[in-house]
Amino acid sequence: MFSINNWQQGKRWTNWANNIVSYPSTYHAPASIEAIQQIIKNMKKQQTLRVTGAAHSFSPVAMPEETALTLHNLRGLLSVDTKNLTATFYAGTYLYEIGPLLAEHQLALINMGDIQAQTLAGVIATGTHGTGVTLGSFSSMVTKWGFINGLGEYIEHERGTDDLSEALHVSIGLLGILVTVTIQVTPLYSLHYVSEKTNLEDALKNFQQTIRTHRHVEWFYFPGSDLIQVKKMDKVAPVEQNKWQRHLNEMNLQLVENGLFYVISELCKWQPRASSSVSKLSSKLVSEGVRTDLSYRMFPSPRSVKFTETEYAIPLQHFEACMEEIHAVLKKGKFTVHFPIECRTTKGEQGMLSPTQGEESAFLAFHMYKGMNETPYFDWVRVLMRKYNGRPHWGKVNDYDATNIRDYYPKFAAFNELRNEHDPNNIFVTSYFRRIFN
Ligand SMILES: Cc1cc2nc3c(=O)[nH]c(=O)nc-3n(C[C@H](O)[C@H](O)[C@H](O)COP(=O)(O)OP(=O)(O)OC[C@H]3O[C@@H](n4cnc5c(N)ncnc54)[C@H](O)[C@@H]3O)c2cc1C
Repeated sequence: MFSINNWQQGKRWTNWANNIVSYPSTYHAPASIEAIQQIIKNMKKQQTLRVTGAAHSFSPVAMPEETALTLHNLRGLLSVDTKNLTATFYAGTYLYEIGPLLAEHQLALINMGDIQAQTLAGVIATGTHGTGVTLGSFSSMVTKWGFINGLGEYIEHERGTDDLSEALHVSIGLLGILVTVTIQVTPLYSLHYVSEKTNLEDALKNFQQTIRTHRHVEWFYFPGSDLIQVKKMDKVAPVEQNKWQRHLNEMNLQLVENGLFYVISELCKWQPRASSSVSKLSSKLVSEGVRTDLSYRMFPSPRSVKFTETEYAIPLQHFEACMEEIHAVLKKGKFTVHFPIECRTTKGEQGMLSPTQGEESAFLAFHMYKGMNETPYFDWVRVLMRKYNGRPHWGKVNDYDATNIRDYYPKFAAFNELRNEHDPNNIFVTSYFRRIFN
C-alpha cells in the first residue's frame, strides 16, 4: 500500500516488489491543478519528473530520478452522470476507494484486475487489465482525460477516433500528468464466482467456448502439472455475501493464498529443486468453491507474498499452441519455479502503445518468488512470447528499447510526435524511457 508518511520522509523510493530503488532529490504532493502547473514551471533544465501512482509496477516506469510527485492529495469522486453512465474522478484515487464511492450511486466499475491497491491514473497509464474477452483494460474505460502536459498546460480531451485519443489510451505518463479522468461505469452488480480444478488437456479443448460463455475466466497453470485452476465469474443482480461468510472467506484467503503460500515459497527459495514438486502439490490443493458478492469485493484478492512478474499479450488464437509448448517445457522441470502462470483474456484496443494492438488477446503472466533468480525463466519466456507475437505489459518486467519498440508498435513514431509536442523539454523522459526514445 502506498504510504504518504514514507513519501514525506523523502529518502528512498522503491516499488511494491522492491526490485526498483531510487533517491529523488525532491518529493511533491500537490493538492491542486495550479500547484502542479507551478511545479512544472519551476523545473530546472535537464531535470525529469515522474508521477508515482501506488508504485505497483515491476518495471521502472514509475521510478522518479530528480523530482517525484504523487497525487495522493488529489483523490475522490468529482461527479457522476447516471444517464450516460459515466463518473469523473481525481486521477490519484486508489482503486479500493472507487467501489464504495460508486456503490453509493448504484454504480460500479466494468472490470478490475486482481488487486485494488493501485491508483486510477496508474492503471490507465499502463493499460492494466482484468479478464473477459468482451471487456477492455482500465484504459478502455476512459471517455475523457484531464492532464497537465510538459508545458504546464491543463488540457481536457474527450475520446474520439483522433490520434491524441489513441496516444492517451496507454501513455505511461509521457504526454503529461493525468489529473482528472471520466470513465464509463455500469449499474451496480454482483458476481457469481466458481473455482474448480480441471485437467489441462480438457480445459485447452474447451478454452474458446469457456471464455465466450462466461464474463470472466482466469486460469492458474501450475508449472509442470496436468491440473489447472479455472476461475469463472458471471454477472448477477446486486446481492451481498453474508458478513460472517465474507470474513471467513477473507481469513481463508489470507491463510491459504498468503500464509501457506509464503511458507512453501520460502521452502522453494531454500531448496529450489523442490519447486517442481511443490507446484504439482499446489495444483492438487487448489480450493474449489462458489460464492457471490458485489463485484468490487469479488475482483481483488490480498497479495502479500512478494514476487517479480513479467506479462505478455498474445493474439488470442495462439493461446492453445502457446500453452501446449509451455507445458511441454515446464513438465521437464527445466526451471525452478513454483508460482502459477496466470492466464486472462481481453478484447482488442485501439491504442498506439496498447499491447493488444487491436486484437482479442490472451495475457500470460509469469511470476518468480522474491529472492529467487527469475532471469533464466524470464529470458526463456521472452523468446517464447516473441514467437507468438507477444507484447509485454508496460507495468511488468519488459525488454522495451530503441531497437525493438517500432517492431512492437507500428504507430510508435506517431506517438513520439505527440509526445514531443506535449513534452518538448522531455521532463517526463527518465532514463528508462531514454533507452526507448533514443
Ligand atoms: C501485486 C500486483 C498485482 C497486479 N495485478 C495486476 C492485474 O491484475 N492486471 C494488470 O494488468 N496489472 C496488474 N499489476 C500491475 C499494475 O496494475 C500496474 O503496473 C499499474 O500501472 C500500477 O498502478 P500504480 O497506481 O501503482 O502506478 P505506478 O506503478 O506508480 O505507475 C505506473 C505508471 O503510471 C504513471 N502514472 C502514475 N500516475 C500518473 C498520473 N497521474 N499521470 C500520468 N502518469 C501517471 C507512472 O509514472 C508510471 O509510468 C499488478 C501489480 C502488482 C504489484
